[in-house]
Amino acid sequence: MNDPASVLARFAPSPLGADLSRLPSGVRAALPALKRALDGLDRVFLEQLGPGHAARYDAVMAGPPGVERDFYAFFLGPWNPLEGDIPAFPGAPEKDPGAGLYPKGMSAKEFSRRLSLVPEELRLSLSDHYAVVEERPGTPAGLVAVPYHERYAHLLGPIAAELRAAADAVRTDGPDLAPLVHYLEKRADSLLSGDYRSADADWVRLRDAPIELVLGPYEVYIDGVAGTKAAYEGMLFAVDAEKGAALRDIERGLPELAAAFPLPDGARSAVGGLAPIVVVDLLYAAGEARQGVMAAAFNLPNDPWVRGTVGWKQVMIRNVMEAKFSKVGAPISRAILGDSSAGFEPFFLFVLLHEVSHGLGPAYRADGSPVDQALGPHYTAIEEAKADTGALHLMLVKAGHAGIPSYSEREILDSYVAGLFRSMRFGLHEAHGAANLVEFNWFSEKGVLSWDPDGRLRADVAKLKDAASGLLEELCRLEAAASPAEAEAFLARYATVSPELEAAIARLEGIPTDIRPVFSLAG
Ligand SMILES: [Zn+2]
Repeated sequence: MNDPASVLARFAPSPLGADLSRLPSGVRAALPALKRALDGLDRVFLEQLGPGHAARYDAVMAGPPGVERDFYAFFLGPWNPLEGDIPAFPGAPEKDPGAGLYPKGMSAKEFSRRLSLVPEELRLSLSDHYAVVEERPGTPAGLVAVPYHERYAHLLGPIAAELRAAADAVRTDGPDLAPLVHYLEKRADSLLSGDYRSADADWVRLRDAPIELVLGPYEVYIDGVAGTKAAYEGMLFAVDAEKGAALRDIERGLPELAAAFPLPDGARSAVGGLAPIVVVDLLYAAGEARQGVMAAAFNLPNDPWVRGTVGWKQVMIRNVMEAKFSKVGAPISRAILGDSSAGFEPFFLFVLLHEVSHGLGPAYRADGSPVDQALGPHYTAIEEAKADTGALHLMLVKAGHAGIPSYSEREILDSYVAGLFRSMRFGLHEAHGAANLVEFNWFSEKGVLSWDPDGRLRADVAKLKDAASGLLEELCRLEAAASPAEAEAFLARYATVSPELEAAIARLEGIPTDIRPVFSLAG
């Protein structure tokens, strides 16, 4: 599909609401400066996308309203992500794999050839996450590395100034918000110095602030040459304190939740607990974070040093998840089940408990070896199935205990089926797809799920609890004791696609692929 109007139609426009009334007055006064900082970050990302790209984007945005403008506003360029990023408009430029991060036309092969010509130190700086590679005749490889904070200094200076202005506004809320003020200032410094690590560490340490801000170069997806250059992105969130309090109840109930996981003889669970989970509403996004499909959850930072010494944060974006559920998940559930009791609250709890469940169950075997090493390439699929099944099991057996809200088995099952099919539609061939198939086929074998003659799925709650605890026990047993060959045999048996399943997924064609967010801070 490469007709721009049809591509856009796959993404349902969705206003993202958020309650700003509970924010302290200084924080509310800081929002316009933070929005300007993020708008500034957009300019950096547009420049990273390629030479001349920002000017082309501006020309389209200044043009008449219509498909091209909407397309650029959502995808930040003419490239169609549903068809491998080919241009969706005649005459639009092809995407250069090196974007604006390498000399124009540089191929992966040519870059690695040039790298092989230079001493180790220069090779490291040319491969740096935070440096642009430029042509410079007369140097050993004809290339130099220009650090981002120098290359984009003209754009980063004003962003840092906006962040400092925001810090000044937050300071009026008093000493309780001193850690947030400190973080905003550190973030401003990082843009100018290129020292992202200490700002990221401060972000991980920041707890219980009324807003969350992520801003800087993070993911490396735009680098089609060597996959090492980070793209600038930014997201501003309001923290949902009420949902945060509910999370604390779950954190306090963790020992009880852990005890609900089978731990076969001699196996040990991980010690040290969980990464902090934060529940937020997205207010505004910029740069790579606002290009195309919007993340509903993320885990940052990626820097191994910060993860090893300070840790990381798991952020769950509630209003994005809610929009995805209402525009995609709920319609899928109705299409698959006919009459469906799927609801957002049980769906959200399931996603949250999936993350919690990754930290529960076997982490080490009786001989001391870590489970992921023992299962090798089959670990990810088994572990993802375990996290899903663990979440389902906890919702069923711990309802009303250990901080877990209580939903009917019918709501739990229908919401779970909605999530399962939403996820299966994205593909069945990587680890998440295999995990989904294992679950689907296990529940089919146990009589929880079955196909009606008209192709509708029948979901029977009577057998759900036993089937879920049986699957969890089997997955924990595989993690604690199976050989890689046994895990492979299990996946070969359960990670299969029946013609009925294929046909049911094909019938979801008319339901949007995802959402196109409308931000509450926009305009
Ligand atoms: Zn997972």
